[in-house]
Amino acid sequence: MVKSLLIKNCGQLLTMRGNGLGIIKNGFVYCEDGKVVKVGKGRAPKADRTIDAEGKVVMPGLIDCHTHAVFAGSRANEFKLRADGKSYLDILKAGGGIHSTVNATRKASKAHLLTNTLKHLKDMRSYGITTVEIKSGYGLDLETEVKILEVARVAGKKQSINVLTTFLGAHTCPKGQKPRQYLKFVMNEVLPKVEADFVDIFCEKGAFTLRQSRKFLKKAKELGFKLKIHGEQINRLGACNMAAKLGAVSCDHCDRLSRGDIKKLAQTGTVAVLLPIVPLYTGEDKYADGRALIDAGVRVAISTDFNPGSAPSKNIFLAMSLACLEMGLTVEEALRGVTVNAALALDLSDRGVFAKGKRADIVIMDTTDYREIPCFVGENLVKKVFTGGEMHPK
Ligand SMILES: [Zn+2]
Repeated sequence: MVKSLLIKNCGQLLTMRGNGLGIIKNGFVYCEDGKVVKVGKGRAPKADRTIDAEGKVVMPGLIDCHTHAVFAGSRANEFKLRADGKSYLDILKAGGGIHSTVNATRKASKAHLLTNTLKHLKDMRSYGITTVEIKSGYGLDLETEVKILEVARVAGKKQSINVLTTFLGAHTCPKGQKPRQYLKFVMNEVLPKVEADFVDIFCEKGAFTLRQSRKFLKKAKELGFKLKIHGEQINRLGACNMAAKLGAVSCDHCDRLSRGDIKKLAQTGTVAVLLPIVPLYTGEDKYADGRALIDAGVRVAISTDFNPGSAPSKNIFLAMSLACLEMGLTVEEALRGVTVNAALALDLSDRGVFAKGKRADIVIMDTTDYREIPCFVGENLVKKVFTGGEMHPK
C-alpha cells in the first residue's frame, strides 16, 4: 500500500460537511496511511501516488447500510412466473418465497456461500460501495445463522470492503414452527451465541408481532447489542415507534409511518433507512415519505436492501434515483443518504464525510456535475474506487 495519496483536480469535491454537500470546486484530498489528512484547494502536499481526477466529481465512498448479501440459491424462477402473469400464491405453490432461500442456504457449504458473497461484494465495490452492512436471516437455525455471520465477516476481510454484520435470526418463522416458540428459541439459544454489530427483527403481519418484537429487542439490548428493525413495510404495526423508544440506531423500510411515528424518530435521533428498490420490485407501489421525514428533522439514509426475494439489485445508483423520483428527496439529500447518513445508520463516525482523520474511502465519478449521479437513472458512474487509500479497478 502506498503511504500517501493525493487526488487532485477534483472539479467538484463533495466533502459532505455541514448540512449540504460541502462542495469545494477544483479541490484536492490528501491522505496518509489510509486516512484523510487534508481537504482543500490550491497548493496540495506532495504524495507517493497522485491521481488526477480530471475535473470530475470526487466524493466519500458509498455506504450501503442494509443488505442480505449472504444467501444461496436463485429466485429467478419466481421472476419468470411473475412475468408470465402468475400470482403470489402460484409462486408459493411452486416452492418459491423466502423458505426456498432458507433451504438452499442451510444446505450450502461455507465455501460456497463465501464464493457467492465475494462476488456480490466485488459487484458492490464496482458501484462505489466501500462499506456494507450484511444481515443473517436465511438460516433460521443456530448453525446456519452463525455460518452466515461468519461468512459475512470473512468475505469483508478478503474483499477489501468494510463489512458490518447484523443478526436477523428473527427474519421470519421457520416452516412448521410457531412464531412464539421460535422466538423463544432465538432469544435463549441463539442470541447469546452470535457475534454481530447489530440485532434486527422483522415486525410484520406473518412474521413477528409488535409485542414479540419489543420483547426480543429488549433482550438483545440487555445483551449489549445495538438495535435495528424492519418496520412498517407492508402494514403499520407501530414497530418503528417502539424501536425508536428503545434507542434503535435505525428503523428500516418506514413505508407506512404515521405523523406520530415520524415525530418519534426525530426526537430520538433514530435514522430512517429507506429502501426504494423494494416497492419498485414487489409492485407494492407505496414508497416511504422521505420528504415528510426530512422536513420533520429525521436523518434519512438510502440503501438497496439487496436480497434475492424483494430487491435483487446491488445498484445503489438506482436506489438514489428512486429516492428522488418517488420519495421526495432532493439530489443533495439522496447523496447524503448513501454517505454521511448511511454512516450514522451504522453508528459510524469515521467515514461518509471528508475531514481530517476520516477513512480514505473515496470514489471518483465519471461526471463533472453531481446532479447527473441520480439523473442518469440507475447508471453506474463510478470511475475509480479507493478503500482505506488503496485503489481498486472499477
Ligand atoms: Zn431487509
